[in-house]
Amino acid sequence: MTSSINDTSAIKPKLLSVPTPKSLHLDVCELIGVSLAGVRTSLYIPELKIGFDAGFPFPFQLGCETFFITHGHLDHAAAIPYIISQKNLNNLGPAQFYMPEELIKPLDEIMKIWQSIELHNYQYRFLPLIDDQKIIVNPQFYVRAFQAHHRIPALGYTIFYCKKSLKPEYEGLQKEQLVHLKKDGTIVDQVIEIPIMSFSGDSKIEFLWKHNWIHQAKFLLIESTYIDDRKTTDQAREWGHIHLDEILEALPRIAAEKIVLMHISSRYNDHQIKTILKAKIPDEYKERFVYFEGR
Ligand SMILES: [Zn+2]
Ligand SMILES: [Zn+2]
Repeated sequence: MTSSINDTSAIKPKLLSVPTPKSLHLDVCELIGVSLAGVRTSLYIPELKIGFDAGFPFPFQLGCETFFITHGHLDHAAAIPYIISQKNLNNLGPAQFYMPEELIKPLDEIMKIWQSIELHNYQYRFLPLIDDQKIIVNPQFYVRAFQAHHRIPALGYTIFYCKKSLKPEYEGLQKEQLVHLKKDGTIVDQVIEIPIMSFSGDSKIEFLWKHNWIHQAKFLLIESTYIDDRKTTDQAREWGHIHLDEILEALPRIAAEKIVLMHISSRYNDHQIKTILKAKIPDEYKERFVYFEGR
């Protein structure tokens, strides 16, 4: 018997559900979005008007002025034309998209074809980034790219928060004394650059060790596509992904306060994920783990 075109029983439930963005409090800002392996990854920080990946056409990402695209797989980049078109249509001003250099030419060709379909010229900017390059978001925040290790060229990103504080030698002084020093031209403040969030995008686990600041970020948003023996670590690596077992093994070396697991495969439902994580994460590390439920 052949199945009817309306028979969706063979499709994984997560593919049929309408994604509900979830938020994650990152101390100094809020992150909203979803990440489901092979299906969609779209993240947004409203306060900074920046987005990470655009794999699904969420209206909430139209507020982004700058996007940081990790790589060109459709579940991370398919919504780029939609966002450009919608922003043009609504006079929201052109967005800029940072991405691996190799992605710019093909994506630009796609946009040119779509412009010819719509008989409309879009405004957008595609800009290349390489490992260790910084992009200033505002005086308090910047984003730094790092090399990821996927099956196609890929980057990950770390957000830095620049916090002004008193130099240690002036701590404990009275306000009047500080005013006096400043009047004399003494610089009493220093700016500390704190990595607050690293986002792996899709990558094998070795992205963590390229620069110390990657794993030292307070929140490490890390892809954990596979979490049990339905796929082995070798299979995860073959596809340029991470298995939970690798993260657990690397734990003693990871400095991040919170490890946020995302991009978990649609072969696991929420209940299974929570059960597996409870069983596999050692008790002394449980507090450090967050399962990002936006999928
Ligand atoms: Zn992916
Ligand atoms: Zn990918």
